[in-house]
Amino acid sequence: MRTVYVAEYPAIQHVHPNNDVVTVRLKRQDGELKATCPDCDTEFVYRKPSKSSIQHFKSPLLPPVKGNFDSDDDH
Ligand SMILES: [Zn+2]
Repeated sequence: MRTVYVAEYPAIQHVHPNNDVVTVRLKRQDGELKATCPDCDTEFVYRKPSKSSIQHFKSPLLPPVKGNFDSDDDH
């Protein structure tokens, strides 16, 4: 079974290879909202739309700087 993450709730529409549009409803299981479509062997798991996934980024290329570079030569 494959898992698909969706941001829709409570009903998930998806298309089967034969072009049938199938709707499944999410139900709470194990603390998550899930729906399973046995016809296409797919599990749908609800994930909130995550606008916050884009963070105010710190460049991973630059390690945290400790101390003050300017003072190094004086001591
Ligand atoms: Zn399906």
